[in-house]
Amino acid sequence: VSDRIGSFTDSVIRRMTRIANSHGAINLSQGFPDFDPPEELKEALRKVAEGSIHQYAVTWGAPNFKEALARKQSRFMGIPIDPETQIVVTCGSTEAMMAAMMTVCNPGDKVVVFSPFYENYAADAILSGAQPIYVSLKPPEFNFDVNELEEAFKQRPKALILCNPSNPTGKVFTLEELQIIAEFAEKYDTFVITDEVYEHIVYEPYKHIYFASLPGMFERTISCSSLSKTYSITGWRLGYLIAPANIIDGARKVHDFLTVGAAAPLQEAAVTALNFGDEYYRNLRDVYTQKRDFFIKGLDRLGLKYTVPQGAYYVMVDISEFGSKNDLEFCEWMAREVGVAAVPGTSFFREEINHLIRFHFAKKEETLDEALKRLENLR
Ligand code: GLN
Repeated sequence: VSDRIGSFTDSVIRRMTRIANSHGAINLSQGFPDFDPPEELKEALRKVAEGSIHQYAVTWGAPNFKEALARKQSRFMGIPIDPETQIVVTCGSTEAMMAAMMTVCNPGDKVVVFSPFYENYAADAILSGAQPIYVSLKPPEFNFDVNELEEAFKQRPKALILCNPSNPTGKVFTLEELQIIAEFAEKYDTFVITDEVYEHIVYEPYKHIYFASLPGMFERTISCSSLSKTYSITGWRLGYLIAPANIIDGARKVHDFLTVGAAAPLQEAAVTALNFGDEYYRNLRDVYTQKRDFFIKGLDRLGLKYTVPQGAYYVMVDISEFGSKNDLEFCEWMAREVGVAAVPGTSFFREEINHLIRFHFAKKEETLDEALKRLENLR
């Protein structure tokens, strides 16, 4: 097998799901809901199944879907988006990120990645021949040092990857932070590839600011996102890239040969979701706010230390008091003996940090309640 295969492992997040399954543990590792999408959306899918959209969609995305997506994203991002020339529909944002990297990077190019980071980015970089340069988001606040960031830009990277709201930290980047990144992107002529899959899961008083909406940034931003988290349909694998037409031209080619296209019937059904009004998004935020508050109150009762998430549905919990030197072993032990699965922090950190583990709380309250009860046996 190829050398590149030897340079990364399978996903630890998804490995923890397999470990959770094998021990019958409650899976708070891989982030996906244990509740259904809105009934209206399931109904739309049933209707589509009865109809005759069962063959390939147009490779770049079904026209209906792209038009609905352009309308919805223009509304939230506050910028006009042309469905014809500025969108590629992908199989999840996983493909969108991979396609973005392959579109802009030559082998040997450098890419700035904040650490801790969602583990796909390192594998994406390797697969596209690029070399990650890591900039620390320092726990427990997960802020970056402006000088360290500029040092990374001085190495003339091709792109910076911005996961906002951030997995695994729950950080929502402030306008000021985004402006610093924008200033460097301009000064050092760098693309910004965003992963904004948690764009609608942001807790008051924090606000999500789309990087592409900052003055002058649309031209250098490849916005990647998906419908997975917003509509609780992670299994539908619907994602997309939004970027200027010249970048989209390139991304279309990558996408054409990676996957041909996202599932046609699912694109058609998802138009229903893309047409939801503002109320849906307010409700989503409220539902996740309740889950977050429920879960972190439980952590408080257990006396565990954590960073309060501002967005996304993850919380990083400090396990130093348990004295384990190996967070992967700790998580395996916890899945087996306590019956709750989390993701070891080392799979997100570039630095030698092994005292943090990630729980997600995209679960029914009863599931979270049971997990918290089991966690009483941690000590
Ligand atoms: N984003 C999810 C997580 O970090 C997993 C997504 C995936 O496995 N594709 O847990």
